[in-house]
Amino acid sequence: VPHMKIDDLRVSIEGKEIVKGLNLEIKGGEIHAIMGPNGTGKSTLASALMGHPLYEVTGGSVDLNGEDVLEMEVDERAQAGMFLAMQYPAEISGVTNADFLRSAINSRREEGQEISLMKFIRELDAKMDVLEIPSAMAHRYLNEGFSGGEKKRNEILQMMMIKPNIAILDEIDSGLDIDALKVVAKGVNEMRNEEFGCLIITHYQRLLNYIEPDFVHIMMDGKIVMSGGKELAQRLEAEGYDWVKQDLGMTV
Ligand code: ADP
Ligand code: MG
Ligand code: MG
Repeated sequence: VPHMKIDDLRVSIEGKEIVKGLNLEIKGGEIHAIMGPNGTGKSTLASALMGHPLYEVTGGSVDLNGEDVLEMEVDERAQAGMFLAMQYPAEISGVTNADFLRSAINSRREEGQEISLMKFIRELDAKMDVLEIPSAMAHRYLNEGFSGGEKKRNEILQMMMIKPNIAILDEIDSGLDIDALKVVAKGVNEMRNEEFGCLIITHYQRLLNYIEPDFVHIMMDGKIVMSGGKELAQRLEAEGYDWVKQDLGMTV
């Protein structure tokens, strides 16, 4: 069962500390949600976990199954089973969606154990059906000209095909209408199993009506300041963030 432990993580951008001592533990079978106001460092956390070079880790540790994630290169993190669905997925010209997926899958396999083309196509078809993605999108260049909603569905398609052990979904719900939101949630819910731990980063609790989190964490000013169950998300939706600050004795 995968197990990720983030301990007192500190991340700076251009010398400014954004993540200020964050602790979080995610195990296989668990879905965690991080909620928090804009600009609180949620995307910075996600990028730093995946090893984005712009984000400088200045303290703390990240352990995945006994291995030091912070010592790994970006591709090694993916090979170790980590996956990030980005808030703003990049467009990659000249690489089709299908080619990208096949090489991503194969990069996590031993030489000689590559997925067969037949099996790949069958699986891709099945997952695209679940996500209601038109089959022509397999052969388009990655994210090029995709609408906002198509990009988000495509991030989930990648996750379903790559089958990571730990997935981080950064604002996968932003810009989605209710139907697209349900489809995205269906994809995530299909992934639920002991070999899969998930961190959902979101600004709104809407998505959590469709993906029931086991744990909800509130992030403010670079730290997790409160953790609870799904009722925490409902209270945030109803009352906003001010009560959290008051409870914690922060100045509003
Ligand atoms: P959230 O995802 O919670 O909305 P972010 O992690 O995107 O927050 O941003 C946290 C803070 O870091 C903000 O003040 C933002 O302006 C700053 N920041 C994020 N990315 C960059 C960047 N690439 N360059 C400079 N500042 C950044
Ligand atoms: Mg933001
Ligand atoms: Mg963000």
